[in-house]
Amino acid sequence: MQYKYFICLLISMVSLWSCNQAQDSKTTSEQDQLAGNRIFISINGDTLAPVQKSEEEWKAELDAQAYNVLREAGTERAFTGKYWDNKKQGIYTCAGCGLPLFSSDTKFKSGTGWPSFWEPIRPEHVLLKEDKAFGMARTEVLCARCGGHQGHVFDDGPKPTGLRYCINSVSLDFVEGAKMKGEKP
Ligand code: FE
Repeated sequence: MQYKYFICLLISMVSLWSCNQAQDSKTTSEQDQLAGNRIFISINGDTLAPVQKSEEEWKAELDAQAYNVLREAGTERAFTGKYWDNKKQGIYTCAGCGLPLFSSDTKFKSGTGWPSFWEPIRPEHVLLKEDKAFGMARTEVLCARCGGHQGHVFDDGPKPTGLRYCINSVSLDFVEGAKMKGEKP
């Protein structure tokens, strides 16, 4: 009788172990997909490592609205953010990790109430993901370094790309007057 119990226990332990293994490999694969072989460059031209934090860590360091948008793919109300009407020259960085994401050179007036750009500062700095939430087929824009939700990209933007990166102000910080190292002042 005791022998049967022992076999049962052994089987349970093995299934639990396999389950954990599967979950671990899923997490690793998601992290690989996020960081990939991408190279992240700071405003000063330094190479930056990918940022991986637990949800508890993000919650501790972001305020409630930034956490809702960056980590839960929320959306700020139109015309309420700090940058939709910002016309100053500079660089917009990720509010989660500081990665440069957009330049004022590609910002345009979209009339939507959200900061809008026709191109990211470096294609490698953003991650695009299919988003079928709320019954719509949209393309989500994430910071490729930390995975922070930025907004969505649509194909009704101006020339030369025809794209409209519709971004939440709360997902961004603004470094006034900054240029990426190597760019003309
Ligand atoms: Fe980021």
